[in-house]
Amino acid sequence: MKIRRAYKYRIYPNKQQQQQQLAVQFGHARFIFNYGLDVRKKAFKETGKGLSYTATALLLPKLKQDLPWLKEADSQVLQQKLKDLDTAYVNFFQGHAGYPTFKNKNSHQAIRYPQRFKLTDSQIYLPKVGWVALVLHRPTEGVPKNATVSKTKSGKYFVSVQCELELSEFSNNLPAVGVDLGLHHFATLSTGEKVAHPAHLRAAEKKLRRLQKALSRTKKGSANRAKARRRVAVLHEKIANQRSDFLHKLSNRLVRSHGTVRLENLNVAGMVKCHSLAKSISDSGWNTFKLQCEYKACQYGSGVQSVDRFFPSSKTCNVCGYVNNDLKLQHRFWTCHESSAEHDRDINAAINIRNFNTVGVTELQACGEDVRPTTFLGGRLTSVKEEAQCL
Ligand SMILES: [Zn+2]
Repeated sequence: MKIRRAYKYRIYPNKQQQQQQLAVQFGHARFIFNYGLDVRKKAFKETGKGLSYTATALLLPKLKQDLPWLKEADSQVLQQKLKDLDTAYVNFFQGHAGYPTFKNKNSHQAIRYPQRFKLTDSQIYLPKVGWVALVLHRPTEGVPKNATVSKTKSGKYFVSVQCELELSEFSNNLPAVGVDLGLHHFATLSTGEKVAHPAHLRAAEKKLRRLQKALSRTKKGSANRAKARRRVAVLHEKIANQRSDFLHKLSNRLVRSHGTVRLENLNVAGMVKCHSLAKSISDSGWNTFKLQCEYKACQYGSGVQSVDRFFPSSKTCNVCGYVNNDLKLQHRFWTCHESSAEHDRDINAAINIRNFNTVGVTELQACGEDVRPTTFLGGRLTSVKEEAQCL
């Protein structure tokens, strides 16, 4: 089975030439994106029909004659931007994203080379830019397919090289684990382990609020404002990196040491609507975590299953199956009336999620298998997450 894996490296373009060249590539690519968007909007207004990627790409040669400075940019980089625009339209039509908008200098800066880049263990060759220094913290595997160069708001440069590689399908015969995602702990495992929300992020967020206040007190256009803005951007990036590091480590550990990872299928979008919980949920990165588990599972011969969110995982006794309908959100511990088993609410839920294997499994995502929807019969909105929806 073929999969694509991205390898991201920090690159160090020199100040005199390469950073300027990259700025030209970013700028011209942005110009082409906006030009393509404008053309597609106008075409739709006049004819009532959209334009394809090919139709917009055919306009490039003429445009380069009219605007010779466009030749400073790599032609494939410009074509790729029109492809990005096309993808933005597809995402819009499929309901995954809003209508494409014009880009400005504050938009995310990224360009993609589909070919003609070369990677060594200390440099990468980028057309129109040259050999750029790079730190190869791990080697790539497979065939390089494209390279995306990006610049963060704090002024760092990265390249992400996407490679295609062949993976043999196997299953690892390790035990299953149930994972209960929650607000008290980031995750509770059926093994009894509780994974706390990363505490250092809270501290960093406090600092971020302070810096944002300081930024708002500076004068518009002043040097101090520029400095303060940069400080905020640097900290933002640091927080995002720390969160990503935490999620990667946890998802790696789970898929490497288990045959099946069962997670509750959370309605995160619905939960974020509830304001009091929105911050801690959107920060917690559950969705990212699930996606990470899914794409990593193939590499370690494990599978990831989502358990239907209507399954009353918290209220069901994992020993005898009794359903405790009196359990409220604030009850962290409870004793079963039937079997007298004593339960920690989250661990009990995680064990039920682990044991839940046929009815109610909504999707089985192991190495690209089809998603097979089934419905859980009975049960109601009872898990701690459902109650948290403020319904
Ligand atoms: Zn019981």
